[in-house]
Amino acid sequence: MIRSGVNNIYISLDIETTGLDNKTDEIIEIGAVRFNETGIIDKYESLVNPYKQLPEFIKDLTGIKQYEVDNASAFSIVSQDLESFIGDNIIIGQNIEFDLGFLSNKGLTLLNQYYDTRDIAHIILPRAKDYSLGSLARELNITHDNPHRALADAAITSSVFLQLKSLVAKLDKTLLNQIRNIYSKSDSHLKTFFTTVNSITSDAPSKIEYEAEEPYIPGHNEKTSANTNHIRSSTGDDRITLFFDQKGPLNSIIENYTQRPQQNQLACKVYKAINNSDTLLVEGGTGVGKSMAYLLPAILFSLEQNSRVVISTNTINLQEQLINKDLPTVKKALTSFLDTENELNFSLLKGKDNYLCLEKWGNLLRENSFSKDEARLAAKLAIWINDTNSGDRNEINLSARDRILWSKISSAYSNDCPSHHQTRSSKCFLAIARQKAEDSHIVVVNHALLMRDAIDGGGVIPNYNNLVIDEAHNLEEEATNQYGSKISSRELIDWLNETNDTKGIVAKTVAALEKFEAGSRKDIIDKVVGKIKLNLKHLEDANKILWNTLFNFVMNQDLSKDRRQTILRINHATRKQPDWSAIEVSWEQNNTVLLDLKENFLDLSLALENTPKKNAVDSLLLTTEISDITTKLDEFKKALHDFVIDPHLGNIYWVTTESNNEDVNLHTAPIHVGEILKEKLFSKKDSVIITSATLSTNGDFEYTKDRLGLIDAEEMSVESPFNYQKAVLLCLPTDMPNPDHHEYQNKLQEIIVEICNAANGRTMVLFTSHSALQATRSGIKNLLAPKGFKVLAQGLDGNPYNLRSMFMENSNSVLLGTSSFWQGVDLPGDSLKALVVARLPFSVPTDPIFSARAELLDDPFNQYTIPQTILRFRQGFGRLIRTEQDQGVVAILDHRILSKSYGPMFINSLPTCTTVKSSIVDMYDAISKWIK
Ligand code: SF4
Repeated sequence: MIRSGVNNIYISLDIETTGLDNKTDEIIEIGAVRFNETGIIDKYESLVNPYKQLPEFIKDLTGIKQYEVDNASAFSIVSQDLESFIGDNIIIGQNIEFDLGFLSNKGLTLLNQYYDTRDIAHIILPRAKDYSLGSLARELNITHDNPHRALADAAITSSVFLQLKSLVAKLDKTLLNQIRNIYSKSDSHLKTFFTTVNSITSDAPSKIEYEAEEPYIPGHNEKTSANTNHIRSSTGDDRITLFFDQKGPLNSIIENYTQRPQQNQLACKVYKAINNSDTLLVEGGTGVGKSMAYLLPAILFSLEQNSRVVISTNTINLQEQLINKDLPTVKKALTSFLDTENELNFSLLKGKDNYLCLEKWGNLLRENSFSKDEARLAAKLAIWINDTNSGDRNEINLSARDRILWSKISSAYSNDCPSHHQTRSSKCFLAIARQKAEDSHIVVVNHALLMRDAIDGGGVIPNYNNLVIDEAHNLEEEATNQYGSKISSRELIDWLNETNDTKGIVAKTVAALEKFEAGSRKDIIDKVVGKIKLNLKHLEDANKILWNTLFNFVMNQDLSKDRRQTILRINHATRKQPDWSAIEVSWEQNNTVLLDLKENFLDLSLALENTPKKNAVDSLLLTTEISDITTKLDEFKKALHDFVIDPHLGNIYWVTTESNNEDVNLHTAPIHVGEILKEKLFSKKDSVIITSATLSTNGDFEYTKDRLGLIDAEEMSVESPFNYQKAVLLCLPTDMPNPDHHEYQNKLQEIIVEICNAANGRTMVLFTSHSALQATRSGIKNLLAPKGFKVLAQGLDGNPYNLRSMFMENSNSVLLGTSSFWQGVDLPGDSLKALVVARLPFSVPTDPIFSARAELLDDPFNQYTIPQTILRFRQGFGRLIRTEQDQGVVAILDHRILSKSYGPMFINSLPTCTTVKSSIVDMYDAISKWIK
């Protein structure tokens, strides 16, 4: 029997363990606090003897020493004290099911009611960037000085819980009732929590009385502020110079505005290119003010020619900067400059799957039961819908599980929206976003949408003839993702399970049939449903054989297997192996079942369409879902057929398998996206501006031109206005061991520690592999801790977003990052003084995309490997200097930059810095002087 709690007394509980597996790992510390609304009443804390060695990582993380746990009591003794401390009270915890599962596995099964603060936070703080305990404490202004110790974490969790509870109590009564209604259909542990929280906005009803027929969406009926534009045409190239002039309109809008000749030069060139319908590659160094430099000519052209310009970016950061800062600034400046009012319209448009579909949301609320995950997402959305105008999922933080569920309520329909809902565009987030884009001169999109729209031949982005692509150094990769595909065994198994489960199409059709009267094609539908059930069973069996055959095929290859993943490229030679035929046979069996299944779904759809009018609503919902299913079946069938039987010459194919399960993923990517981009996108536009801070290598644009299919494009490079000789000390140690030398790792750690001392923290180290990052973290943590320096390692101490915040807030820290820190991360000002590049960022030679592309070239190393690595290297280097005031040190600890013939190309691709080529010892001296 579940214990239900006593007089609003709660127990906040936390454990520390030797690892995450409750079968093989052990508990090493337990902390708990008894508390009520006024605060902590009592505390319990005990170390636990695991009777095994503590992993180094756990000692680092918690600070718990081996001798401390060796002297502690066994869990069987500690657990008795803990059980009596907890009593019958409600247990509170962060990710509490992990703790309860661990305790239960070790012999203490607690049947108390429990609430998870992470789940509550997910709901009540839908926009929070992160739901870890540390982040929640920061978000709620709770000081958390001693993380990863059980008692401290339990105490902080109690404060977090009380604050979250008070936020729930402040919810609008109708909204709170909607959440209660959602939870009333779920067996989640939070059902009681939401029922018992007393609303302080008004008297909360004693029982659930609200039945949502329509989602509660106050304030969401506002129409877009679309208007008709009166566009002036009296502008020209000379205006750009006046606009950016020191005494021009920007001077009164931007604080400490400084005119930059480079910005003006770039803007004039872009203006000319757009007006002449040219294709232009333009590289703008850091600090040029590139975005304003292309926005102004794009805007002028759009206003003059009444022609829309689309701007595509890769990162959300840049999108937000354009929409929230740069475009409003240019608009404001232009208003006085051109003596016009509100003439410029601009908007942000995303892919369909980014917007919530209110029709699907309404259908979700009408479901009879919710799983724990569904209830949490539905409640979270209920709160978010209450204050979003965009319905854009990027406003909220979705967990991996949420993201899967999101696909069921997003506006992405395989086919068109259901006909009965197409008239409700005033309440449709997607329709509002599209209408705004239709009414805009400038539409900002991301590369993914740009590519998808080009693949589909348009239809999402409103018609446009002029395109600006910023952050173009990411374009090849994004085009590769969009033109490629991935079929995952897990996704298909889940899809089959969902189709077959109590909420799947079969169960829904059977339920609908009960409402149909005899004679209304009930018998036919019944018969087809029977056939579909059988098909699904056959498909499940055939699928299992196919994935097993693929998995075994990969495992039987002579591959050096990575700890987590095995990768096998599938080329002509692989397909010639005798075992491949077993995969072909398995696929043919799948194909036969899939054809049958699709046929039967089409028969079902036809039968449902012909039912009498009184069944119309049910039939319509079912046929819409069936249409989505048959589209999915077609896509799946085609992708598998191409992969197994009929590979395309222009594609790269490879299989990955996960080591912790038998999941198999089939990947496809185009070998050369340049040809595709040229045909599907660039050739269809009047003008194309491609820009980034890193397009050239060693002063040459040929690599980028070739990769993007822009051989005939004009090119231009505008140098950074920053004085890098004054800003950067570039350190190239002459006695650094090569990366494959056994002394390299120790030397790397020693140098990082010295640089960190000299820079007083404020150091970022860029790695090319997570294993190297992990090894370095272990090596430097104890050396830096006594001096008060904190090590923040990507993936170990937090996600990139959290680490960036912690690094900015805590100057005594060293940040260790891999791929996502090489580009797009802005750490301006004094927060970053030293940047260490551990290795030059070469691609892994066995990477299927890399190796397939390299094979096509006469001199792959010089034509592909070197330029690709230089562009990444330049991105990494660019993290240090973000503003004119920034100053610091860059240390390249890969000796190949000095010893190899290609080294000078890397150095020449950087701006001219003050450079030290010296012994490591002399380098320390130079660094200390430079940073002081
Ligand atoms: S119009 Fe389509 S996308 Fe929009 S809410 Fe209706 S069904 Fe969803």
